[in-house]
Amino acid sequence: MQILIDGLFVALVVGAIGAVIGLVLAFASKVFHVKEDPRYELIVANLPGFNCGACGYAGCSGMAEGLLAGDADVTNCTPGTALTYAKVKAILNGEDPDKVTDVKEPKKPAPRKKLEIVDVTNDDPRFNKIVELLPALNCTTCGEPGCKAFADALLKGKKTVADCRPLNRKQEQKAEIEKLLEN
Ligand code: SF4
Ligand code: SF4
Repeated sequence: MQILIDGLFVALVVGAIGAVIGLVLAFASKVFHVKEDPRYELIVANLPGFNCGACGYAGCSGMAEGLLAGDADVTNCTPGTALTYAKVKAILNGEDPDKVTDVKEPKKPAPRKKLEIVDVTNDDPRFNKIVELLPALNCTTCGEPGCKAFADALLKGKKTVADCRPLNRKQEQKAEIEKLLEN
């Protein structure tokens, strides 16, 4: 009987290790597959290169990975122009981006100046936790001078969680902040 239990235990452990290795390999193959795609470097080179996070990715390389994985929209690159979007779309279609030259730029509002980051404090016990959950990019695309100022504005009801676009890529943190704000 003991032999049977031992055998079962060993089989379970081996099975669990196999499942973990399988998951790691599947993840690694997805990441490397995207990075090995010949379009990857070309897309990165044709994005604005600001690494500002306004698109919801941690930087332009993240955006390029998202585009190749099919879950990003290049028009979410706020500093991008119509030419940027057209070139990236051409690359995704396997076309030569250098041939894309004649694109009419839609009228855009004047680019917003990046705000100077300010160190804000708030006595609300949820403040530090919310700051911790925010993307910490201090990109100011939410219209606040940094993530601490944004947390303060959230607690004062001046902003909503949706105003932080980079947070859209971090659904767990977003949900946690929304929960904290309900209390
Ligand atoms: S929005 Fe994204 S892709 Fe565009 S410049 Fe910023 S990080 Fe790069
Ligand atoms: S809270 Fe504002 S400054 Fe911080 S990452 Fe989000 S959009 Fe950028």
